[in-house]
Amino acid sequence: MQIVSKLPEVGTTIFSVMSALAKEHGAINLSQGFPDYDCSPLLSELANKYIGSGYNQYAPMPGTVELRERIAEIIQTCYAASYRPDTEITVTAGATQAIYTALATIVKPGDEVLIFEPAYDCYAPSIELQGGKAVYSTLKYPDFCIDWDDVRKKINPKTRALIINSPHNPSGSVLSKNDLNQLEQVVEGTNIIVISDEVYEHMVFDGQIHQSVALREGLRARSFLVSSFGKTVHTTGWKIGYVAAPQHLMAEFRKVHQFLVFAVNHPLQLCLAEFLKNTRNYSELKHFYEAKRNLFLKLTSGSRLKPLHSAGTYFQLMDYSAITQENDTDFAIRLTKENKLASIPLSVFYKEKPGQHLLRFCFAKKDETLEKAAEQLCKL
Ligand code: PMP
Ligand code: GLN
Repeated sequence: MQIVSKLPEVGTTIFSVMSALAKEHGAINLSQGFPDYDCSPLLSELANKYIGSGYNQYAPMPGTVELRERIAEIIQTCYAASYRPDTEITVTAGATQAIYTALATIVKPGDEVLIFEPAYDCYAPSIELQGGKAVYSTLKYPDFCIDWDDVRKKINPKTRALIINSPHNPSGSVLSKNDLNQLEQVVEGTNIIVISDEVYEHMVFDGQIHQSVALREGLRARSFLVSSFGKTVHTTGWKIGYVAAPQHLMAEFRKVHQFLVFAVNHPLQLCLAEFLKNTRNYSELKHFYEAKRNLFLKLTSGSRLKPLHSAGTYFQLMDYSAITQENDTDFAIRLTKENKLASIPLSVFYKEKPGQHLLRFCFAKKDETLEKAAEQLCKL
């Protein structure tokens, strides 16, 4: 029996491919974005507490009240914006499901969704599975900032939504106040919905402020704000995230969410709600990762790799053109096999491969892991 693929051009995600290759060759894994240290012992204790005290059946469909209230509080604290926990916040199985569900909620066959490349890998397939078309605008090199003139040219009556992502994976760039001004102008008077992927919201460096859509009344009214606890509390394996959106959007979102996952891990939601009462458990994160970025830059400063600016996330791009002119995928594979160091080639995030020589390294790693990785890089 044969089926016609709905995603004929899609293979296995680069994150699975590179992590598997790293494992096969015993390489240090700076490819897929996850920490190699554990979450806070308090978080594990709380997880045990809730699993051990009878919270092991279905959570309420939109998420536990406790966690939705905590999310509302965090958004209020960080962006002075109020979302109602009962009608405007839904807990999801990570940001991936949040983005998929938001797209499934709004995209009809023939609709266009504008995304920026290099683009996080789940965006285009999730659009196409709804019968929509991903329209690409390329971020300007080497700052990876948005070309607003290009955006204006690509927006038309078929444009149903626009996905923004700041801090940006894979480049580490962040949106500025002016970008939000431009975005407001571009969507004003249209029916365009904004899906704002802010999973790295608490990892913005050098004293900059994260420019959330929640900061702007005009954008909030038409946005699905997406975030994930995986990044914030070092638990990418828990797959718990959330969406905040105005009531009329959220009501439709929940219609889809209830049939996609129904509800998310109950005891861990309660555990996160308690852990995040302490605001330092998210407000300190930027300092922690800024120090990691700085350490990685210092350790690799003697290498022939040229770092680009990482203003946020836990990723660092490096230009390796002083070492070889090999394409990035071949080089990333060779580096994993021969030098025992795995990274992510940047070209996989583009539809039209740009021919740059860039690799993405994840610095959410123990200092000793970064030291060992840098040792390899300095030998190249
Ligand atoms: N968006 C971006 C930009 C990401 O980097 C990631 C994962 N790291 C996700 C979404 C998905 O997050 P989650 O693991 O919570 O599904
Ligand atoms: N977001 C992570 C990264 O960019 C990977 C998540 C995944 O493997 N799906 O590396």
